Amino acid sequence: MKGWKLVSPNKLDEVELNEVYEGVSKCKVKITKSLLSFSDLLRYNGEIETEQVVLGSAGIGVIVENDANLFGLEKGKRVFIEPNQKCQQCYNCKSGESNCSNLQIAGEDYDGFLRDFCLSSSDKLFLLPDSVSDIDALFISHVSNALAIIDKLRVQKGDYVAILGGNNFSIILAQLLIYYQAVPIMLTIEDQSYTAAKESGVYYVLDKDDNWQREVSIITGGRMAEKVVYITDSYIPSAKAFQLASFNAGVVFTGTSSGKPVQFNQAVKKQLNILCVNDASGYTASSINLLANKAISLAYVTINKGNYRDVPEILKTLNASYENDQLISETIIEMI
Ligand SMILES: [Zn+2]
Repeated sequence: MKGWKLVSPNKLDEVELNEVYEGVSKCKVKITKSLLSFSDLLRYNGEIETEQVVLGSAGIGVIVENDANLFGLEKGKRVFIEPNQKCQQCYNCKSGESNCSNLQIAGEDYDGFLRDFCLSSSDKLFLLPDSVSDIDALFISHVSNALAIIDKLRVQKGDYVAILGGNNFSIILAQLLIYYQAVPIMLTIEDQSYTAAKESGVYYVLDKDDNWQREVSIITGGRMAEKVVYITDSYIPSAKAFQLASFNAGVVFTGTSSGKPVQFNQAVKKQLNILCVNDASGYTASSINLLANKAISLAYVTINKGNYRDVPEILKTLNASYENDQLISETIIEMI
């Protein structure tokens, strides 16, 4: 077994991985495709503190060895591997509670999916129905995080939800809000995501030339947004999120980068309820079901493609784009 391991910032080595298949509620999976996300890039360039691990924040594959007692997880089945594990060390884990306070993330705390094979415990493997394509499956964590946000904001039919930031995740979130009969208002400074959001069926999309405060006031009949999602990976100042929120609104912060300062004066004045959501665990089965039912179309997201061999070169190029303040989209890596 081998994979691309991050050995120091901006340096990947291809390493041999000495995992041994032991059976006992585990499966060996041949990884067929993995996803390089914005988080992977920030791990690569050292902005996110990371263990020396194999990168790759999502992966799908085919079961090649299985424990005979695992119902349904048979050889040849296509699976998604949930990219997180409980730490088993924290108070919550030791007292048997479901929420780990130090959730371990694939590609950050332990080896991710830029490798040929992985061993996974059966509870992390989800069978993929034929109607969920490989590309759909690689975005399951995006859908899960969108579901967690909708849950935590208690979004109801007819609610206006302002989304600040235009990337693939915001387009997925907007589509899901429409599916749940809420009204997304997407605000973006990126031309590419403005067009993509419009084409995907989001009715209210504001770009950098619009007066956001005035437009949101008109759309909401003067109330302003009672629910706001601020994507920290966008180049929009967080003060904008507080500006568009109504008194006592719920404001979610989500995303992977956290380098920008946040001014809380307006949030305190308006007594906003600020929530931080970055939750891909617990929603995987629901996300697969939504994708199978075509609640979300990934036809409108921007996806790059590459091969396993070219991963170091791909990351170098992505990092150069990031340093030029360009929007970074996910790259699907074909494994060999
Ligand atoms: Zn824990």
